[in-house]
Amino acid sequence: MLAFRLIQPQEPPRLEEIPRPSPGPGQLLIKVGGCGLCHTDLGLMKRTREEWFDTPPPLTLGHEIAGWVAQIGQGVVGFKSGEPVAVVPVWGSCGHCAPCRRGEENFCYYISRLIGAGVGLDGGLAEYMLVEARFVVPMGDFDPVLAAPLTDAGLTTYTAIKPALPSLVPGSTAVVIGVGGLGMLAVQFLRTLCAARVIAVDTDAAHLELAKEHGADVALSSDASTAALIRDITSGAGASFVLDCVGAESTLTTGVAALARLGRLTLVGAALKTIPFGLHEVPWGAQLTTSLNGGTVNLREVIELARLGRIEAIVDRYPLDHVADAYRALADGKLRGRAVCIPGVTESIS
Ligand code: NAD
Ligand code: ZN
Ligand code: ZN
Repeated sequence: MLAFRLIQPQEPPRLEEIPRPSPGPGQLLIKVGGCGLCHTDLGLMKRTREEWFDTPPPLTLGHEIAGWVAQIGQGVVGFKSGEPVAVVPVWGSCGHCAPCRRGEENFCYYISRLIGAGVGLDGGLAEYMLVEARFVVPMGDFDPVLAAPLTDAGLTTYTAIKPALPSLVPGSTAVVIGVGGLGMLAVQFLRTLCAARVIAVDTDAAHLELAKEHGADVALSSDASTAALIRDITSGAGASFVLDCVGAESTLTTGVAALARLGRLTLVGAALKTIPFGLHEVPWGAQLTTSLNGGTVNLREVIELARLGRIEAIVDRYPLDHVADAYRALADGKLRGRAVCIPGVTESIS
């Protein structure tokens, strides 16, 4: 089968023919219907050998995966061959701690470092892939191409937004900084799940326009004046919730400066910058949190919202054999929506 593989750290990944795997006990073989490309993959391609710890390449990239059950491993019950499914990307969880038992496997007490599809283990940029059945969520007859971005871009933002919802009453404001693959879904979750005014912030005018089409009340260019504009719009109060999908020093600074007292700022963007935290550095009563991906319970909820038509992933379709072009477009900020690679399709379908 065809797979897009990182062979050596820091070398360009390439398409290769590799044998189709077979499921062991507890595993499912998934026929990939769509695999989304995430900004995080661009960082993985730059990792040094040391940064991969004990799971270095070669490996198949891709962690936003949906498809169909192709083969069922020994001991797996409750799945039917041919059934459409979505895959939770973070796999290092123990399965028995309290967060795992609640279906919040991403917050497992025992995950020592990030491991999962396309991160240390073979991912979904291939015709088939293996996954433990406990990380697979059935999705009725939902289209895997539209489902793929929900497993990371959707699940991460939904998991970050859910705890903030009780404060997002009419008259409040929620801000999403960085409305690319993640942020465009964040805007839609906020629009459908709460009554807050939704402000989208980005450096890219086309992304801001699209965010307005998908539920943002206000779209603001991202620069040193953005926080003051948010203060103006909110009559000085600031935003009850800020979701930073970038994580640069400038966006974190904007987020804190735009945050209301008792507000909540959640960081999911992985630019890996920091800001000062102290009694007079952040608004009084504010909560500053991070969030990473999500668990199986939230993925079921995200898929349900999509099946009801309340949210939709905006997708740029690429045949799997054009995956390098898709990554280039992501790196250059040229994508309109989330790039989703589709195995088994050969001509251009964008
Ligand atoms: P993307 O490239 O699709 O979108 C990024 C968006 O941010 C673009 O619209 C871009 O124009 C905008 N942007 C860049 N600099 C900006 C700035 N200074 N101010 C405002 N907007 C700016 O990327 P993505 O796939 O949506 O990923 C977003 C970030 O989230 C990445 O850092 C990625 O690694 C990270 N991520 C984290 C998790 C997690 O679990 N925490 C999961 C997936 C992705
Ligand atoms: Zn990702
Ligand atoms: Zn656990």
